Amino acid sequence: MQSIESAGAVAGNLRRVQERIARAAERSGRSPEAVTLVLAGKTVSADRVRAAVEAGASHVGENYVQEARAKSAALGDLPIHWHMIGHLQTNKAKDAVALFEVIQSLDSLRLAKEVSRRAEQAGRVVRALIEVNAGLEDSKFGVAPQEVFALLEEVSRLPNLAVEGLMTLGPLAPDAERARPVFVMLRELAEEIRGQWLPNVSMLHLSMGMSADFETAIEEGATIVRVGTAVFGPRG
Ligand SMILES: *Cc1c(COP(=O)(O)O)cnc(C)c1O
Repeated sequence: MQSIESAGAVAGNLRRVQERIARAAERSGRSPEAVTLVLAGKTVSADRVRAAVEAGASHVGENYVQEARAKSAALGDLPIHWHMIGHLQTNKAKDAVALFEVIQSLDSLRLAKEVSRRAEQAGRVVRALIEVNAGLEDSKFGVAPQEVFALLEEVSRLPNLAVEGLMTLGPLAPDAERARPVFVMLRELAEEIRGQWLPNVSMLHLSMGMSADFETAIEEGATIVRVGTAVFGPRG
């Protein structure tokens, strides 16, 4: 059972994060609606995610297929947009297509082909972002920036995949100014890609910024921020 106090705390945290998002968007001359908050739900119980959704959140990101499956079953009565934000193994592509509206962590041609094939079988087009590896010590996954163009050229031929932008992880150390150059790099890369006019590839979204640096990311053009700790508290 979910205690009233913890649901209240989550709702209060959510409201504060939403206000900070709105202020950062306004500072950078954009409307608050131009930024989507995706709650990072890893290790967070379904009850706490429910509290956030009942308080007004509508996008949830998960890192693991199994955890997402259990949570989406427990929260099936709520209108949640599910995002895959963790590393996805090719052999989980079918499950991912069934569970997620957006796959933010597309990082290889092999995975892209399998996701498109499974999406075709399911009769849908899967929205995806390319995860870019910023080259920081702590970034394990993602495509190197100089390899993104070659990957996109191939991916743009896949019929059941719509690439809508780029995603990256900033430095894990909570230092927003250290993250800024990473966010600038991602924005500039998206601008270059936009100039190539590839089919099935738009650059509508930049998914960047987490609890420690989402305001900086918004200042640099983020349209999606992924926030866990600032809403749910520290992970156990
Ligand atoms: C955990 C996680 C986040 C959120 O991190 P917080 O610092 O808790 O806000 C964002 N993106 C990804 C890919 C994550 O795994």
